[in-house]
Amino acid sequence: MTVQFDRIALIGIGLIGSSIAHDIRRLGLAKEVVIATRSADTLKRAEELQLGDRYTTSSAEAVKDADLVIVSVPVGASESVAKEIAGSLKPGAIVTDVGSTKASVIAQMQPHMPPHVHFIPGHPLAGTEKSGPDAGFPGLFEGRWCIFTPVAGTDATALKTLRQFWEAFGSKVDEMDAEHHDKVLAIVSHLPHIIAYNIVGTADDLEAVTESEVIKYSASGFRDFTRLAASDPTMWRDVCLHNKDAILEMLARFSEDLAYLQRAIRWGEGDKIFDLFTRTRSIRRSIIQAGQDVDAPDFGRPHPLEKNT
Ligand code: NAP
Repeated sequence: MTVQFDRIALIGIGLIGSSIAHDIRRLGLAKEVVIATRSADTLKRAEELQLGDRYTTSSAEAVKDADLVIVSVPVGASESVAKEIAGSLKPGAIVTDVGSTKASVIAQMQPHMPPHVHFIPGHPLAGTEKSGPDAGFPGLFEGRWCIFTPVAGTDATALKTLRQFWEAFGSKVDEMDAEHHDKVLAIVSHLPHIIAYNIVGTADDLEAVTESEVIKYSASGFRDFTRLAASDPTMWRDVCLHNKDAILEMLARFSEDLAYLQRAIRWGEGDKIFDLFTRTRSIRRSIIQAGQDVDAPDFGRPHPLEKNT
């Protein structure tokens, strides 16, 4: 059975908030959607895109009488939003978020949540490198995971309701504790982004080649890193600062493994290099088998002559 809320408040209406808004409308999951964002420009754009029914720059105003509140702001802004909405939350409301780090969001938000609301931290593992209200689209969460990291004593009925909400989007829901989430995400998401930012930054530092060869020959591999490295700087700065311990642990392991590869290259140890590259190739196959990507070569990019075959 699909859930329906009388009023949903969306705090933050960028890529994730607006994608949620599209799906709520598409699936009829709320009688009324109230949108709040801090800047008048973003609010105006959300209104032009008709993402909700009412619009305000006041988060406190938006959450009044809302049954479900979804906070979709950079993780570093979680505490200020929690403080702003705390006094206006309706008894029995479910308050959730979509932040990419979880222990920090819980530490920032939970102390401000009144006892009469159900605070359930969440994280949909779906997104793109774009940001802002124009970046959202219906179906972003279809077939993707949404992880809840419930705190002790979370009401089972509220948890079930929120699960049904994400499942209505076509998401698969998992639960784990926040520390575990932060470790897992450090390796599957945070480290790849940091490596991408770093490699693109390194290329940019090589000023002699940047303006010509790096761009011209980017299809050799470099451009696949540039997609991740084009992600929102505010969001990713906050992820780095708010999942510091897990990221530093993964970076330490990464550096050790890189040193191993570096040594194998220096000493011409082809077997070691070949074994590693064979192991990693099978990971790609597992991702396709798990339905987390398509089996098209070059990430499904169109190639001009293929159209004629
Ligand atoms: P986004 O497109 O940049 O939108 C950010 C929204 O938060 C905007 O409405 C913005 O308001 C508001 N905001 C920014 N700074 C704020 C602050 N200091 N105080 C209050 N509001 C602020 O971001 P997004 O990609 O939707 O990401 C939102 C959350 O989702 C983040 O926590 C991120 O970690 C998480 N997430 C992102 C992805 C992804 O791929 N992008 C995937 C999963 C989860 P104004 O425009 O009005 O300033």
